[in-house]
Amino acid sequence: MIALSKEDLEKIRRHAEAEYPYECCGLLLGKASVNSHEVHEAEPVPNTFEDGQRKRRFEISPDEFFRAEMKARRSGKELLGFYHSHPDCPEDASEYDRLHALPVYSYLIVSVEKGVSAGIKSWVLKSDRSVFEQEEVREI
Ligand SMILES: [Zn+2]
Repeated sequence: MIALSKEDLEKIRRHAEAEYPYECCGLLLGKASVNSHEVHEAEPVPNTFEDGQRKRRFEISPDEFFRAEMKARRSGKELLGFYHSHPDCPEDASEYDRLHALPVYSYLIVSVEKGVSAGIKSWVLKSDRSVFEQEEVREI
């Protein structure tokens, strides 16, 4: 289960709409416990893919990733996962998403239909990396 405030969910939706028709991406920072991720901050980061690919993919640079880990640690938070958008595609994790994901993290996906945010789902990779499993998204 991943829990987010209404404000953070709104922030993610607005970011996804602002980047449309490209994919947006960002970090989810907060506290992890055994069966849940509680997000305290959703932070937009640049999608470092080039123009032609940003419509279908997202990538967070290693620098950005490192910076996020450091920032989270300094503020006593943890990097819980990532969010990204699927412009004109369902909020289901793609094969590309699976191949580039790591277990432990939450992968929150928001679909954007014709510029308007729609469904939100969150995914966690099984520890053997074979498949993504959906996790509940709860508003807190
Ligand atoms: Zn994706």
